[in-house]
Order: sequence, then C-alpha cells, then structure tokens
Amino acid sequence: RLEIRNLVRNYDGRRVVDDVSLKVMPGQVTCLLGPSGCGKSTTLRMIAGVEMQDSGEIWVDGNLVCDTSFRIPPERRHIGLMFQDFALFPHLTVRANVAFGLSGDKADIQRRVDELLERVGLSSYGGKYPHELSGGEQQRVALARALAPRPSIMLMDEPFSGLDNRLRDGIRDETLDILREQDTAVLLVTHEPEEAMRMADEIALMRNGRIVQQGAPYNIYNAPVDRDAVAFFSDIN
Ligand code: ATP
Ligand code: MG
Repeated sequence: RLEIRNLVRNYDGRRVVDDVSLKVMPGQVTCLLGPSGCGKSTTLRMIAGVEMQDSGEIWVDGNLVCDTSFRIPPERRHIGLMFQDFALFPHLTVRANVAFGLSGDKADIQRRVDELLERVGLSSYGGKYPHELSGGEQQRVALARALAPRPSIMLMDEPFSGLDNRLRDGIRDETLDILREQDTAVLLVTHEPEEAMRMADEIALMRNGRIVQQGAPYNIYNAPVDRDAVAFFSDIN
C-alpha cells in the first residue's frame, strides 16, 4: 500500500507539485491524470526516491520511506518502476535484463526469471538482445524486469505511449492482469483520459500541481469538477 501526504516540490521558485496526497491500495490501480506539465512525473520521481520533495511524507506498506529529515534510498523502497524512457539494457540479454534487480541464490533467480518470462509470453526469448525484439516485446520484458523483485508498489509513467494502438490495448490488459494477480498497488501516470478510464480503479485528476478531483472513473467522467475538467474529458468518445 502506498500513501503520500502533502507532497510539495518547487523548481526555481515555482510550485510544480502542490500539496498532493494520495493512497493506493494493494491490487488497485490509481491513475494520476492531467495535462502535460501539471507535475505528474515529478510526483512519481519523488515517490520512486530519485528526486527529493521539499516537504511531505511517503509511506510504503505502513513504513515511512521519506520525509524532510529522513530518506530511504530508491533501491530499498520495494517499488517497481516502468517509465517510457526507462529502457532495457541493450548489452544484456532478455534473461539478464529480467534478473538485473535480483540477488541471492542463482537457482532461485533462474526460476524467477523463467516464471516471469513465461507469464509475459516470452519463454523462448531469454537469450535474445533487446534490439532483436519488437517494441511490444521489449515492453513486456520491462514489465517482467520491474516485477521480478516482487515490489508491493508499481509506478508507471506513460509506459504504453510508445506503442501503436492495437499492440497497446493487449499489453495494457495483460499488464493489469499480472499486477492484479500479484496484488500490487499501481500508480499509473497518463495524460490521456481514455487510458485512465480504461485502466483505473480510481482517478486523481491533476492540474497545476494540485489534485483537483479524485474518485471512480465513472464518477469523474459523469460529474467533472469544473469546466476545465469537462474540456479535458471531451475528446473521449
Ligand atoms: P507530461 O505529461 O508532459 O510528462 P508532467 O505532468 O509529467 O508532464 P512534470 O514533468 O512533472 O510534468 O513537470 C512539471 C513542471 O515542472 C513542468 O513545468 C516542468 O517544466 C517543470 N520541471 C520538471 N522537471 C524540472 C527540473 N528538473 N527543473 C526545472 N523544472 C522542472
Ligand atoms: Mg511526465
């Protein structure tokens, strides 16, 4: 379970994340939805721990991982990351990419990698290199890699935006199935209302650094908080 409280971040005197609070429960997908530049990625980077907030707290599974005086490093937060620009390592095989974040007994690692490659439908691809794979296949490897250490939380920043429509739908659904099976709490960033409507259990609508509305997709779609929200949702049909 992920909980963030009153997160704030300023760049050059401008507040780009402004008092953001959110909870994501295990097995649930929350979408952080909003226009370009509203502060979504910055929020995710602070949760991941690759960037420091100016104030606010981040809790993972009931443990404080970061406030203004205390900070657990990213690799010890039990958080999986899938970012659009978070590419596979080109010089490592599929198998080595998936195993990258794992440590411990070699046989256990092999077993885990096999299990994940099978789950994403790439059992016979273990020895290939990323450049030998299609975009969708690479995305599935990235998912397997992110899931390998069994994170309780998965942060995804527009992970499907590089894929064509047909491929995207399949991979989205498959990704959600796997994350739900593993009871992962998912925070998914997108600027596309249609993607949020399709994937979210809960939508947090963000604008100018603030969450302006939060609730079930159906409720937000049917009762947008103001004119700007109506306009934002109007390109879905
Ligand atoms: P998009 O949908 O385009 O990815 P976003 O909602 O993810 O947008 P952020 O990347 O969080 O937006 O950026 C929020 C604001 O903060 C933007 O105005 C951006 O220009 C600014 N910003 C982001 N990173 C930095 C930085 N390192 N230094 C200064 N300003 C930054
Ligand atoms: Mg972004």
